[in-house]
Amino acid sequence: MTEDDTQTFDSTVYYDEDADEEAIAQKTVAVLGYGSQGHAHAQNLSESGVDVIVGLREDSSSRSAAESDGLRVETPADAATEADIVSVLVPDTVQPDVYENAVEPNLDAGDTLQFAHGFNIHYNQIQPPEDVDVTMVAPKSPGHLVRRNYENDEGTPGLLAVYQDATGDAHDEGLAYAAAIGCTRAGVVETSFREETETDLFGEQAVLCGGVTSLVKQGYETLVDAGYSPEMAYFECLNELKLIVDLMYEGGLGEMWDSVSDTAEYGGLTQGDVVVDEHARENMEEVLEKVQNGEFAREWISENQAGRPSYTQLRTAEKNHEIEAVGEELRGLFAWQDEGEEDEEESAEVTA
Ligand code: NAD
Ligand code: MG
Repeated sequence: MTEDDTQTFDSTVYYDEDADEEAIAQKTVAVLGYGSQGHAHAQNLSESGVDVIVGLREDSSSRSAAESDGLRVETPADAATEADIVSVLVPDTVQPDVYENAVEPNLDAGDTLQFAHGFNIHYNQIQPPEDVDVTMVAPKSPGHLVRRNYENDEGTPGLLAVYQDATGDAHDEGLAYAAAIGCTRAGVVETSFREETETDLFGEQAVLCGGVTSLVKQGYETLVDAGYSPEMAYFECLNELKLIVDLMYEGGLGEMWDSVSDTAEYGGLTQGDVVVDEHARENMEEVLEKVQNGEFAREWISENQAGRPSYTQLRTAEKNHEIEAVGEELRGLFAWQDEGEEDEEESAEVTA
């Protein structure tokens, strides 16, 4: 734990020196799933000297990838049987099923259930027995970066939470797991399953995925409806967003405001709250309430049970928005994209 007087937040942040890798060194970890997070956790743990078994279905096309990465592969049930720690890294929507069929029957007292997101525990879709530890180590980054950073002796920031501590060692073991995948090199923030789940869902809905795409589409539509060209609308409302976000990522809102013109700064400061006004704030509070009271979770679970009818429709409508066709054409005409970046994105897609 590092005490820093200049810190303005009260969260605990852990680094390498706070973790005792011995807490995991003698354990066997079953990593269920070999997708974005699974392939990174499995390889990083293994290279940190931890005994790893990857749990995949007999017919999973990820099997050959895991094997050629030098890892032992078993069925999820066999991996869970052998393991002391079961790291559940299949998609959140299939976790309850995998848990019920392959994990629950094979958990021993004192084993650990380990997650990278709190949804199924927080919303009671997985109800573990009382005699196991339940922890979360959630890298705040896609899996391909968790892997690449580890290979480059760099870290990936992460979160650590303990939901259930049956053995008394859950926290130390979770921190050792975070160290073994490289997270304590960068810093690991202590949180709870509830906080991680609710802030994650709210963030992706209100700001990151939902809010920002609505802002982009409405900005685009406003310009096009007023008679401006779709190309100009695309550049102004979508393409330039990256430049602005990169500046905010690097140095906060301040670096962005410092980098744009005074005209852009003045106009932005006066008009931003006109567009995203107190109604947007009230709507955000409603979105948060549905996350907190479980309404969103219930809706998403029954949407999946029904075979995703609305989800499929919404996806199609989003794909068919005019901005997508305009963007595809423009991105083909202008060579501003870094091809290296594109390759990385592709290699991050590991399918089931
Ligand atoms: P993913 O979709 O990339 O990969 C899931 C893998 O699970 C597949 O590649 C396949 O190997 C396996 N799989 C799929 N269906 C299966 C089934 N029915 N039975 C057994 N195995 C099956 O998943 P992901 O994005 O790595 O997510 C895993 C967990 O990590 C989730 O809890 C997610 O919320 C969390 N997480 C993801 C990210 C991210 O950036 N992707 C970041 C932080 C946390
Ligand atoms: Mg076991």
